Amino acid sequence: MATAKEQTNSLVEKDRNNIWHHISAYNEKNPPMIVESGEGAWIKDHQGKRYLDAMSGLWCVNVGYGREELAQAAYEQMKKMSYVPMSQSHEPAIELAAKLNKMLGDDYKIFYSNSGSDANEVAFKLVRQYHQQNGDHSRYKFISRYRGYHGSSMGALSATGQALRKFKYEPLVPGFLHVAPPDNYRKPAGQTIEEYNIQRALEFEEKIIWEQKETIAGIIMEPLITGGGILIPHPVYVEKVQEICTRHGVLLIIDEVICGFGRTGKPFGHQHFNVKPDIITMAKGLTSAYLPLSVTAIRKDIYEKFDTGEENSHLRHVNTFGGNPAACAVALKNLEIIERENLIDRSVELGDRLHKVLASLKGHPFVGDIRGLGFLLGIELVENKDTKEPATNARIGKIIGDCKTNGLIVGRNGDTVAGFNNVLTLCPPLSCTDEDFDFIV
Ligand code: PLP
Repeated sequence: MATAKEQTNSLVEKDRNNIWHHISAYNEKNPPMIVESGEGAWIKDHQGKRYLDAMSGLWCVNVGYGREELAQAAYEQMKKMSYVPMSQSHEPAIELAAKLNKMLGDDYKIFYSNSGSDANEVAFKLVRQYHQQNGDHSRYKFISRYRGYHGSSMGALSATGQALRKFKYEPLVPGFLHVAPPDNYRKPAGQTIEEYNIQRALEFEEKIIWEQKETIAGIIMEPLITGGGILIPHPVYVEKVQEICTRHGVLLIIDEVICGFGRTGKPFGHQHFNVKPDIITMAKGLTSAYLPLSVTAIRKDIYEKFDTGEENSHLRHVNTFGGNPAACAVALKNLEIIERENLIDRSVELGDRLHKVLASLKGHPFVGDIRGLGFLLGIELVENKDTKEPATNARIGKIIGDCKTNGLIVGRNGDTVAGFNNVLTLCPPLSCTDEDFDFIV
């Protein structure tokens, strides 16, 4: 029988030999963690070391790990009915759509896919088709923000505003344009936050006009930029963007892939603002990543254009796994847990507490800014507080490494090309206990 050490070595070896890991190249000195199990906010690697996962995986395990009732929901559904294509229907998909609609205010049709990227691709296709069916044949362009991330498939990557993720795969899909997001920490002196945010919102309008407004189909943005470094707009920004969209016949897609399901302290991130998106995309926290599932929610008055009875008026889109019955059953149970355990209120409470505790770091010479919404927080590290020069890779790497050595996983976000990949990110499970919270602090 192989000893525990031999088994460990063989796992590492097989991993190195066979897996092409996401995001970065294999690092011999710091190989990818082989994770064996998870419980609550904690994960355990194959050597038995425990870590508090303050990134909830990839911003997704909102209810924490090891929830037996989620496994049970998947098991029961798989036994009863494992697969139904979404040209047909099934009870978990129906109940989940009704539930999501209730959370959204009851005005949407729910289209199921598998991932955040998929959900955004569906949004782009249906926006283009909507304009076609409205007789607006020249509207095909989308505007999004630099630093925003919307996924890895060709359309979603085209909307993404982080050049380093894109430049080796270009040319991407034509018709995707970008404007700068509000970065309140770096706003010019002499402007109020409100003035600056309105000015940044007006960049959308400028782009619409310069590009010929009859060519613009949609705007896509997150309620707040997450992966690009936790950039939280003033409410006037989002509200102004919606007003610009309405005035120019442009549809507004809000990407709730990270911000949804309580992460920012509301069911959906856009609910912090007085807006009613035309389309909302969601994934990650929908199932807390126990199974893959995503949704594109379309306002019903837009959906009507696809339900005219005319030939070819329907959305020509299908995916095999979208709306998988077990995934929908897990999503329903996941939403039940969020409700039962008041995790949205908990997100507000833990976020507020974290802000208060971390306020003492504000005087630290390398801490430029601390910002967040709900239980989602960014700490922007700088070399110099006056010039706001971003902290060096070495400094940020050391902090993240020290956290890991001490059993805490934190994220690093921003935009590598612009040199602002200097935001430490905390996005812990909303189910963190008080002891977990103390550990993070
Ligand atoms: N949109 C946002 C805001 C995201 O953060 C992500 C992924 O991190 C996506 C879309 C893409 O989701 P997925 O990786 O499930 O395709």
